[in-house]
Amino acid sequence: MSRRTVVVGAGAAGLWAAARAAERGRDVLLLEKTPRTGTKVLASGGTRCNLTTTLGPDDAARLFGTRGERFLRRAFRALPPLAVRERFHALGVPTVEAPLEKVFPKSQSARDVRDALERWASEAGARIRRNAPVRDVEPRGEGWRVRLADGEEVGADELMLCPGGKSYPRTGTTGDGYAWLAALDLPVVEPVPALVPLASSEPWVHALAGIALQDARVRLVDANGRVLGRRERPVVFTHRGISGPGAMDLAEPVARGGGALHLELDLLPGVERKELRAHLIQAAGLPGAPRVAGALAKLVAKAPPRRLVAAACRQAGLDDDNPRANALPKAARHALVESLKRLRVPVDGTLGWDKAEVTAGGLALPAVDPGTMRVRGRPNLFVFGELLDLAGPIGGLNFQAAFATAELAARAVEG
Ligand SMILES: Cc1cc2nc3c(=O)[nH]c(=O)nc-3n(C[C@H](O)[C@H](O)[C@H](O)COP(=O)(O)OP(=O)(O)OC[C@H]3O[C@@H](n4cnc5c(N)ncnc54)[C@H](O)[C@@H]3O)c2cc1C
Repeated sequence: MSRRTVVVGAGAAGLWAAARAAERGRDVLLLEKTPRTGTKVLASGGTRCNLTTTLGPDDAARLFGTRGERFLRRAFRALPPLAVRERFHALGVPTVEAPLEKVFPKSQSARDVRDALERWASEAGARIRRNAPVRDVEPRGEGWRVRLADGEEVGADELMLCPGGKSYPRTGTTGDGYAWLAALDLPVVEPVPALVPLASSEPWVHALAGIALQDARVRLVDANGRVLGRRERPVVFTHRGISGPGAMDLAEPVARGGGALHLELDLLPGVERKELRAHLIQAAGLPGAPRVAGALAKLVAKAPPRRLVAAACRQAGLDDDNPRANALPKAARHALVESLKRLRVPVDGTLGWDKAEVTAGGLALPAVDPGTMRVRGRPNLFVFGELLDLAGPIGGLNFQAAFATAELAARAVEG
C-alpha cells in the first residue's frame, strides 16, 4: 500500500506539492479549509497572477535578503523560474513576460492558473477535500494525526503544512499554522504584514494623493540615518500615506517598528546633484528666469509634478513653493537640490493585515532543511510556502518561493 501524505492548505504551495507527490505515487489527501482552492492565486496580480519572474534562480533568491537567499538557493535551482513557466505551459497555460521582470499567464487570467494547478493535482491522483479546516496536528508513532474542526481524525505517514500566513485574512488564511508550530515547540519569527502600503500621519503627504512616480529611487531610513532597505520601483501617494511596489516592498521593517522611520525619495534619479545645481544656476541666468518646476521640466522628460516640487521646496525651508531660479541664493539652492534628491516622507506604520499581500515571519529557517523542507527533529513533517519565515518583493517572487519549496518537499517523499 502506498504511503499517505496529508497536505494541509490548498493554496499555491499545497496544490503544487499535492500534484507532485501524487505523480510520484503517493496517496495524497489535500485538506482545504475554505470552499475553494487557490483563493490567493485567484486574487493575485490584480486577478492576472504574476506567477513567477524572468530572473534567473540566483538573482531571484537574492531578493529575499541574506537569510532568505541562503535558504532558497537550492529550491530555486531545483525549480528555477523558467521551469515554473515550462510546467504551466505543459499544463496548458503559456506565459508572457511583462515589465519589471514579471511573468503572467498569456490569457492574463489568474483563474487559468488556479484551474490548471487544481486539475493537475486531481489528475495526478490527489484527493482534494474542501471545507475541511484542520484544527490541530500531533505526532503519532512515526507519522501524524490531523484533527479537523468537526473532530474527525486523519492519519498521515507524512504531513505537509502549507496553510499560508496571516495576510488578507478574508481569503481564509488567518494564521492557523502558527499555533500548530507553537504547540510543536518550533521556533516562530513574529509574523508581521509585508508588501503592504505604508501609512504616514503627515497631512502634506496626504495632500499629494494620486501622484505617482514611475522611476522612483526609494530608501527606507531610520532616525540615525541607517538605510534599512532600498528599491527602484514605482510609488504612489495616497490619502493615508504612500503605496506602490517601491513603498510596499519596504514594509517589513516598518511593520516591525523600531522608532521614527522615513522614506527618502529621489525625485530625479537620473540626474546627479552636481548636474542639477548647474542646471538651476543656468536657469537663473536665462531671460525671465524660469521657476523651478519649469526649469526641471526642461531638464528631464519625466519631471516631478508641480505639487511634488512644491513639497520639496517647503522641505528645503523656502518661502515660495515654486520660486524663480534666480531667487535662490546658494544655500537655498543647495537645500532644494538635497530635498529633490532625498525628499523625506515620514512613515509611521503599515495599513495592516487586511491590505498585506504576504506575511513576513513564520517558521524560523534554521528549523528546516533547505534541501527537503523537512522540519528538523520532527520526523515526516514538512513546512513550506508562506508559513516559512520568507517574504520576497512584489514581482512573482512569492509564488516562485511557494512553488519551489513545495517541489522540494514533494521530491523528498519520493519512493
Ligand atoms: C491580493 C494579493 C495579490 C497577490 N499577488 C501576487 C502575485 O501576483 N505574485 C506573487 O508571487 N504573489 C502574490 N501574492 C502573494 C501570494 O498569494 C502568496 O505568496 C502565496 O499565495 C503563498 O502561497 P501558500 O500556498 O504558501 O499560501 P496560500 O496561498 O495562502 O494558501 C494557503 C491555503 O491554506 C488554507 N488554510 C489555511 N488554514 C487552514 C486550515 N486550518 N486547514 C486547512 N486549510 C487551511 C487557506 O484557505 C489557503 O487556501 C498576492 C497576495 C495577495 C493577498
